[in-house]
Amino acid sequence: MAVMRGMVLERPRTPLVVRERPVPSAGSGELMIAVGACGVCRTDLHVVDGDLTHPTLPIVPGHEIVGRVAAIGQGVSGFAVGERVGVPWLGATCGHCSYCKEGSENLCDAPVFTGYTRDGGFATHTVADARYCFPLGEGGGDSEIAPWLCAGLIGWRSLRLAGEGRSVGLYGFGAAAHILAQVLKWQGRRVFAFTRGGDTAAQAFARSLGADWAGGSDDAPPEPLDAAIIFAPVGALVPAALKAVKKGGSVVCGGIHMSDIPSFPYSILWEERQVRSVANLTREDAREFLAVAPKAGLHCAVTRYPLEEANTALTDLRAGRLEGAAVLVP
Ligand SMILES: [Zn+2]
Ligand SMILES: [Zn+2]
Repeated sequence: MAVMRGMVLERPRTPLVVRERPVPSAGSGELMIAVGACGVCRTDLHVVDGDLTHPTLPIVPGHEIVGRVAAIGQGVSGFAVGERVGVPWLGATCGHCSYCKEGSENLCDAPVFTGYTRDGGFATHTVADARYCFPLGEGGGDSEIAPWLCAGLIGWRSLRLAGEGRSVGLYGFGAAAHILAQVLKWQGRRVFAFTRGGDTAAQAFARSLGADWAGGSDDAPPEPLDAAIIFAPVGALVPAALKAVKKGGSVVCGGIHMSDIPSFPYSILWEERQVRSVANLTREDAREFLAVAPKAGLHCAVTRYPLEEANTALTDLRAGRLEGAAVLVP
């Protein structure tokens, strides 16, 4: 019997453990995928650390999956064995709640999330609902494009909600911001990168990707911004970003979890500034971004870890020791 390996979370706030199981078969409507690479997202950290409180345990985390179709379940069309595909966070939606019907499947009342409520990609093999998988073509290595599947997609959706403004601030210069900065420069916009105060290495990294300015999150940008997107899970950045945007400007929170937002004076929200969050993604977001990414010539800076070193990757991400994205390679 063929055997797969997965890194499994059995209880929140405990290290992942290696587990071997029979290779799963592709059920009706599913693809069975041999994983080539899986990115490590901050959301995985929130699952492992218990910030997200409803995982289906035990769970294999990981929702930035690049792999090859190894088996095709009944009723699936449009995929071939051996084809390279991607699996994102949105694992499935109900298709009939009011949100799904209105084209907001990201807000579905009964969603399935990869690596949270169904097993994800910190494994040699995984199974996914074919309707939520995307063909990736052959451009770029598996590790280099894995971060597209969440950091890229959520960044793209955040940018869409942030609007068309010329100058955009990015708070927290990790995996998502380092991709989005490249998209913004390709679009001809101005990029302002905000890092932890004194993190000159991250600021230099941002400049190397084309940021027009980089500074600490408490610093005022050299000009008022049209919009700001916050990727760091730090509530205190909300008032900081509101102070940095001009009249009518937007502050978009791109993360799934954030520490409490401190109170702030109404004056920094006044004049039609807005604050909003971004939740999950739609398949339309994914199709748009996956079409843009090759044209924009995006390059992810990745640090590779063997699958069995998933805990080290999570620790490095938690400590802010990474430049760009962490990726597990089975
Ligand atoms: Zn629904
Ligand atoms: Zn993610």
